[in-house]
Amino acid sequence: MRYIDPHIHMVSRTTDDYQRMAQAGCVAVTEPAFWAGFDRSSPQGFYDYYVQLTEVEPQRAAQFGIKHHCWICINPKEAEDVGFARDVIALIPQFLDKPGVLGVGEIGLNKNSKNELEILEAQIDLAAKHNQLVLVHTPHLEDKLKGTLLIMDAIANDGRIPPERVLIDHVEEHTVGHVLAKGYWAGMTLYPETKMTPQRAADVIECYGQERLWINSAGDWGCSDPLAVPKCQQEMRLRGHKPETIERISYDNPLQFLSQSERFSIE
Ligand SMILES: [Zn+2]
Repeated sequence: MRYIDPHIHMVSRTTDDYQRMAQAGCVAVTEPAFWAGFDRSSPQGFYDYYVQLTEVEPQRAAQFGIKHHCWICINPKEAEDVGFARDVIALIPQFLDKPGVLGVGEIGLNKNSKNELEILEAQIDLAAKHNQLVLVHTPHLEDKLKGTLLIMDAIANDGRIPPERVLIDHVEEHTVGHVLAKGYWAGMTLYPETKMTPQRAADVIECYGQERLWINSAGDWGCSDPLAVPKCQQEMRLRGHKPETIERISYDNPLQFLSQSERFSIE
């Protein structure tokens, strides 16, 4: 069954991952800018990463018939040095009009610190000024709920970006209801064992329905699974969900959200 993986860090994956994803039904991916597993030593390191996201990965994906898109930002794990982060943010506008760039992301919070919040607000401002979609990272630590509420407050306080243009990712059972109730889109990141598994995601879909909800693998340089989306499709099939329900979660919903950017295309 065809699917879109709307959150996966392909720069960290091998070319045969693209091949296996294509064989499993993947037609498009979107890749948020994130931490590379180490802190970059200069803004120039981010510039090179943005070139990799906008020029190198689309070509690698195209070999297997997969459309590659990306999101540009400085991630919260490297936002603690505010001066450094502002120098990186100054590089971003030149990338926002490139083909395949969908918006600003994944911005958000990691440890919910004051400096992270300042850089989050600066990037909400950037997205609003350039009329961009936003993809949000929520903390994986024990403060996920607090961080999620702080992020939604920051977006609402800014007031220029409507909730339907924001996807809040890495939701779990205790945060998904808050996100959906405020009109945002919610993403469930599927991990092999920890955090949200394909089984738990299927439970959430059964409890909260299918509106404004998507699934993704967030595959990166750590323990993660680039085939997590088709595995969740299989879990839903085994539970007796209809093919249209499975397709809505794994294809129609990402298509609907991402198509708000004219630069998203699966043709
Ligand atoms: Zn990510």
